[in-house]
Parts: sequence; structure tokens; C-alpha cells
Amino acid sequence: MIHQANLSVESQWQKELKQSYTKPKDLLNYLNLPVADFEKDFEARKLFNMRVPRYFASLMEKGNPNDPLFLQVMPQIQEFIEKAGYEADPLKEHDSEMPGLLHKYKSRVLIMFRTGCAVNCRYCFRREFPYADNAVNKEKLTQVLDYISQNKQINEVILSGGDPLMANDQAIAWFVEQCESISHLKRLRIHTRLPVVMPSRVTKELIDSLQQSRLKAIVVLHINHHKEISEQLILACSKLNNAGITLFNQAVLLKNINDTVHTQVLLAERLFDSGILPYYLHLLDKVTGVTHFNLTEAESKKIYEGMLAELPGFLVPKLVREVGGESSKTPVLP
Ligand code: SF4
Repeated sequence: MIHQANLSVESQWQKELKQSYTKPKDLLNYLNLPVADFEKDFEARKLFNMRVPRYFASLMEKGNPNDPLFLQVMPQIQEFIEKAGYEADPLKEHDSEMPGLLHKYKSRVLIMFRTGCAVNCRYCFRREFPYADNAVNKEKLTQVLDYISQNKQINEVILSGGDPLMANDQAIAWFVEQCESISHLKRLRIHTRLPVVMPSRVTKELIDSLQQSRLKAIVVLHINHHKEISEQLILACSKLNNAGITLFNQAVLLKNINDTVHTQVLLAERLFDSGILPYYLHLLDKVTGVTHFNLTEAESKKIYEGMLAELPGFLVPKLVREVGGESSKTPVLP
């Protein structure tokens, strides 16, 4: 039974979501940045919509056009740059086994559980993904569950998107129950950025669904910069940790955002202090429109070597790149 008080907590994040900034001008005004300086950038919204929760904007430094959180979400004119090596589908994901399902790894399947996100990160490798063709409703999810039932080598389900936590708690609870009835499944993993941009998404109902399941739950957050780890997020993470849910982080190495050893060390330390283990540090996936975020492989390796020198081994994420068509992530060795 869902109590009234809990319903109001859940509706809180949905209400917050609706209040997100979708126009650059509104975000710039909030941050006390001169709108005229950015007008040339507004066009980039045609390539990929802008969406920034107000909570995430509140973590940005007002008056600072180089704020590392602002740079991740503000449309920029450079997104129109076309360059060899950058393509619409760098990970070769657009043709899947069935709509909404990717079965790249033998023992794991990835489900595009929800096609939207609470925030639109400008560097996103799925910014050109045909989400409309891959949206999953209950009927398609039932087909996906049949596929999992018939493939006994699958022991882990990964919910991705978009952002799977865009689904409401009832939809997640239903899906968790369906997975529980498939005896060869052991783990449920959720890849999400939503708690980072809106910690209120970590509701009691969500925690209860994951905690009460026989499946071992893992939440992989996406945090690129230590400034994204607020006290509210730390509180949400401690609730997940207390419920026995394992927390990992994956980040993307981004030019002018987190491209120094110092920033990466601060991120790793703050993640650990918050009960989250650094898991992967990804090189940028070369989707069209993201050239201005890219670091060369040599630059990336240099930063990584600095991290190896400064951090204890358990706080160093694996440096990886995704190669389209490959069945696993490719390690980038210093
Ligand atoms: S939250 Fe993840 S999937 Fe959504 S836009 Fe950001 S990087 Fe892409």
C-alpha cells in the first residue's frame, strides 16, 4: 500500500522535473550571465534540446561562464562542427535485437527502460539515438522479459535509457517483480544520472523495491565533477547504502570540465567519502557535435598517470573507451 505522505514525496521530483530550464535565456538569467554573449549558441538547441533541473542549476557558480556544471548542459555553437571520426551512432547501437533491448554482453542485457532524461548532457553519446523507435511500453517489456527467460546465460539486467529512473516507482516495482521470477537472474543494475541532478528522485518506494528484492541491486551513478556531489546527494546515497545497494560511479573525461589530475583526484576522494566507488572513466564517445569536449588519447593518458600516482589503487577508475561493435569496453592503458 502506498501512503499519502509517500505519494507527495514522489510527486515532488516529478514536479521539479517540470520546472526544469529548457530555454538558455532562463538559465543565463538565473546565473546572472549576460544573455547577449551567448545568443550565438542558442541555435544548438535545434540539434539537441536543452533540459536542466533547477536543483542542478543551483549547484552552479553564479556569474561564472566557465562553471564545469554549466558547460556540460549549455548548448554551444561548436555543436555544429562536423569532423571526420564523429558520427551519429559511434557505438553501433541503432540496430538492436528488439526495440529497447541490447544484448552485447553474453551474461548481461541492457534495456532502454525510459527514453528521456532529467538533464540533457551536451556530450551524450546517445544524443542522436532513435529513442522514438526504441521506446518500451509494458507490452514490449513483456517481450523483453520473455527473451531474458529464454536465454539462461543472462544473469544480470541493466536498466539504462535515457534514464531508467524517469519511470515512476510503480513501474520500477512491477519490473523488479517480473525479473525476480526469472530464476537465472542474479543482479539488477541501474545506470542513472537522475539522483545527481535531482536527489529527491531517491524515494522511499524506490529504495524499498530494490531492498526487498532477492536480486542484488547496483546503482551506477554518472558524476563528472566533485561539485555535483551535494549534501542532498550524499544523504540520498547514504539511504541507498544503508539499504544494501551497491553504488558505483562512471564519469566521462571532458575538456575544460574535469581534465586535470587535481579535479579527478577531488572527484575520486569525494565519491568515496559519499559511499560511491569510482568504476569507469570513459574517453569521450565521438558522436557528432561533441568535438569541443574531446581530449586526445595522449592527454587522457597523462591525466590518468597522474591519478595513478596520487590515488590509492581502489580509488582509480578504469580508463576505458567504447568501440562500436565490440562486446566489451576497451581498456586504455597508460
Ligand atoms: S543523463 Fe546520460 S543518457 Fe541522459 S543525456 Fe546525460 S549522458 Fe545522456
